Amino acid sequence: MIDVQAAIAANPALGRVARAEETVWINPLYLPVEMTDGLCQLVVPDAAIDDAEARLARFASFIRRRFPETEPTGGLIESPLEDIPRMQQALEREYHCTIPGRLMLKMDSHLAIAGSVKARGGIYEVLKHAEDLAVAAGKLSLTDDYARLDSEEMRAFFRQYTVQVGSTGNLGISIGIMSAALGFRVKVHMSAEAKQWKKDLLRSHGVEVLEYSGDYSKAVAEGRANSEQDPMSYFVDDEKSVDLFLGYAVAARRLKKQLDDRGIVVDAEHPLIVYLPTGVGGAPGGITYGLKRLFKNNVHCFLVEPTQCPSVLLGMATRQYEKANVRDFGLSGKTHADGLACASPSSFVTRVLGNLVSGDFTVADANLYNYLRLLDSSEGKRIEPSSCAAFAGPRGLLTLPGSRDYCAAHDLTEQVLNNSVQIAWATGGRLVPAEIWDQYLATVLD
Ligand SMILES: *Cc1c(COP(=O)(O)O)cnc(C)c1O
Repeated sequence: MIDVQAAIAANPALGRVARAEETVWINPLYLPVEMTDGLCQLVVPDAAIDDAEARLARFASFIRRRFPETEPTGGLIESPLEDIPRMQQALEREYHCTIPGRLMLKMDSHLAIAGSVKARGGIYEVLKHAEDLAVAAGKLSLTDDYARLDSEEMRAFFRQYTVQVGSTGNLGISIGIMSAALGFRVKVHMSAEAKQWKKDLLRSHGVEVLEYSGDYSKAVAEGRANSEQDPMSYFVDDEKSVDLFLGYAVAARRLKKQLDDRGIVVDAEHPLIVYLPTGVGGAPGGITYGLKRLFKNNVHCFLVEPTQCPSVLLGMATRQYEKANVRDFGLSGKTHADGLACASPSSFVTRVLGNLVSGDFTVADANLYNYLRLLDSSEGKRIEPSSCAAFAGPRGLLTLPGSRDYCAAHDLTEQVLNNSVQIAWATGGRLVPAEIWDQYLATVLD
């Protein structure tokens, strides 16, 4: 059991978190990467990220053939990086804040196939599982053209196997669509927060959707138990999967190329500051890890979680990891940010990120819709409410005392910040149906 009062006494930021205020927690265990290098190489070596990148390249010909929308990227699932200067000005005007540097949007909200950041980790893990099975059965070799996986014979082979996952929605969509495309049977165990349109979309792909009244941890536990009973079933475990993490980590190399193509240099004088909406921690964890390996001390990664559901923050701050639950701090875990509604965090990510993440901003649900409208009106871009959490970062960085002190402590002077690139990582949106956008745009909370 966590001693909440002692935790709050030791760190006043946790008092604000427990009162569900919008705030920032700065990671007291953040270290220069030189001091984490040995451990990182041991736990998730750079070679494992190379291997994940190579695997995605092997599957590109299959993906391109099966999902023609990926034709422009040659079968790679990658999203645009865009300047959003009008949003930057709109945020400054609306919230009387200063946002230095160049504000950009990494649009994983518009990733092909799954329409969310889950297209990275979720799809990667399904591909890896398919490759492992097919190679072991002598039906595929690593040097083959993987386009041949798009055949009746291979679909019949994969049809013997089941893939299962617990999901608040988007992970189920990425796993469900790719598993079904390969031929697997798929079961997605959905938590109570999952939106109806996400369940409908999955069923339209032939996915079996099981619904539970409990929260996300319950859906994961049910899925895990169900899968363990079936030797032909594989469970994608969002609370501890290293393969998911690797799929996400590849994002960093892709981002570097996009920055290079624009002539954007990242160094001590021109740092990168990244804000990632966070649920159980897998997606932002893998991306942060990849970014820190590449850009070292010149990238500063902040997570963002709902004020009622900051589970990764609490898992790291209390060092109770997956044992932390937002309800221990008197928070409900309920949030309109369905993709971030995980009351307990990933065991793997809260440990791996312990010295790498700079901090964690919290965001009130009402602001998710305010940011959603502001991005729509200023830039004509639409991203789902969970995704909009990212904007709490650039808004808060120089407004909240905690992050201001972080900047001062890490040589992020006014001049350096003016030369920085700040990236709001948009994590979902493309598959939202038109009538749901109307609802989102009209939602005004207290
Ligand atoms: C899943 C999700 C996240 C966060 O990913 P985790 O791995 O749960 O931390 C963020 N935004 C959206 C839209 C998501 O679906």
